[in-house]
Amino acid sequence: MPTPFEHAMNQLARATKLCSFTADFLERIAHPNRQIRVSIPVKMDNGSLRVFEGYRVQFNNARGPYKGGIRYHQDTDIEEVKALAFWMALKCAVVGIPMGGGKGGVTVNPKELSKRELEALSRGWMRALYEVVGPQKDVPAPDVNTTPEIMAWMANEYGKLTGDMSGAVITGKPLESGGSAGRGTATAQGGYYVFEALREKLGLPESCRVVIQGFGNAGEHAADIWTKAGHKIIAASDSKAAVVNEDGLDIAVLYEHKKATGSVGGFAGAQTIESSEVLYVPCDLLVPAALENQIRADNASRIQAKVILELANGPTTPEADDQLFEKGIHVVPDILANAGGVTVSTFEWEQNLKGESWSEADVFEKLKAIMVREAQAIFDRAKALNTDLRRAAFVIALERIQSAMQP
Ligand code: NAD
Repeated sequence: MPTPFEHAMNQLARATKLCSFTADFLERIAHPNRQIRVSIPVKMDNGSLRVFEGYRVQFNNARGPYKGGIRYHQDTDIEEVKALAFWMALKCAVVGIPMGGGKGGVTVNPKELSKRELEALSRGWMRALYEVVGPQKDVPAPDVNTTPEIMAWMANEYGKLTGDMSGAVITGKPLESGGSAGRGTATAQGGYYVFEALREKLGLPESCRVVIQGFGNAGEHAADIWTKAGHKIIAASDSKAAVVNEDGLDIAVLYEHKKATGSVGGFAGAQTIESSEVLYVPCDLLVPAALENQIRADNASRIQAKVILELANGPTTPEADDQLFEKGIHVVPDILANAGGVTVSTFEWEQNLKGESWSEADVFEKLKAIMVREAQAIFDRAKALNTDLRRAAFVIALERIQSAMQP
C-alpha cells in the first residue's frame, strides 16, 4: 500500500495538471522545509527508562507560522507526519488563515501509559522541540489521541523553558489554560457548516441518514451536531466495533456506553457489526472520522453513500477518488471539511496574542463565514474546471501558497 505521503504527492500531481503552476514551485512544494526526529526518554512507573521516538515536520511557512497537531499512535512514523504536515499547509491556505503547515507525533500507544507517564512524555516532547516551536514559528495543537490536558502540559513546559506564558505556542488548550471557546467541537462544527453550504448542491435531502467512522473528538461531536440539526445517525464505529440502527442511534446514550465500556460495540440500542463494515452501510452521508487510507481501490466499489465528507485526514486514496467520481459520489475533501479545527485553533492563538477571550457565539460566527465562503469557492471552481472537489481545493490552496512564496 502507498504511504500517506506517496498518496499526498499523487493528489498533488493530479491537481496540478489542471492549472499552470511554475516548475520551481512544484518542485519546492513537494519537499518539507524541515523534518525533525527526537528521542524522548521517560521514566516509567516500574522504574525503567523507555525512549520514545517523537517528530515535528515543518512543511511550509510561506503564509505564516507552521501549524498542525501532534499525533500519539503506535503506527505513527515520520512518513505519516510528513503527509499530515503537507495537508496542513494546504488546509490553512484553503481557509485563508495566516498559517503554514506542520505536524508532530510520537510513536506510542498512549492507552498503555499511566497518566503520570503520559504527562512525562508530553513534557518531554516539548523539552526536545521547544527551540523550533513558538508563537511566531510553529504552533502545535491536538490530533489523534492528544487532548486539551496534554496541550496544557506542553504549554506549561514551554513557559518554564522560555518564560513565555502567553499560551500562544500551542492551541487546543482547556478553557482555563487559555483555550478558546468552541475549540473542542470546532472540527465537527466546521464540517457541518460546509455540509450545510453544499447539501442542496450535492443533491442531499433535507434530513440525511448519516454514517460515522470513528467515535473520537471529530466523530463524536459530528454525531451530536448532525443529530441536533435533525439528521439521523444510523451507524457509528470505533477501532473495535461498529453499531447500526436504521431508526437512528441515540447518540447521548451511545456516548455514555462508550465511556463506560471503552467501545461502541455491544450497545443495547443497535446491532453490533465488524468495525470495518461501517463504511458499506447504505446512507446519504458517510463521514470518515478515524484514520488515513480507509477508502481505497479495493473497497471503494462497496461504498453506498451519496456523499462522503472527510473529517479524518487522508481517508480516501486517489484511486478510490476516481472510482467514486465516476459513480457520482461526491467527496468533500479533508482540507476543506475538517479545517474548522485549525481555524478555531488560529482564533485561539490570536486571542492569546492579544490577551482576549471571545465568546462561543463569536467564534462560531467567524468560523461559519469562513467555511461557507470557502466551500462555495471550491464548489464553483470544481464546476469551472469540470473536476472533483479535492482537485479544486488543491488548486485554490496551491495558488495561494505559490503567490505567498513569490519574491
Ligand atoms: P481521536 O483519537 O479523538 O479519535 C479517533 C477515533 O477513531 C477513535 O474513536 C478510534 O477508536 C477510532 N478509530 C481508530 N482506528 C479506527 C478504525 N480503523 N476504524 C474505525 N475507527 C477507528 O481522534 P480525532 O481527533 O477525532 O481525529 C480523527 C481524525 O480526524 C484524524 O484523521 C485526525 O487527523 C482528524 N482531525 C482531527 C481534528 C481535531 O480537531 N481533533 C482536526 C482535523 C482533523
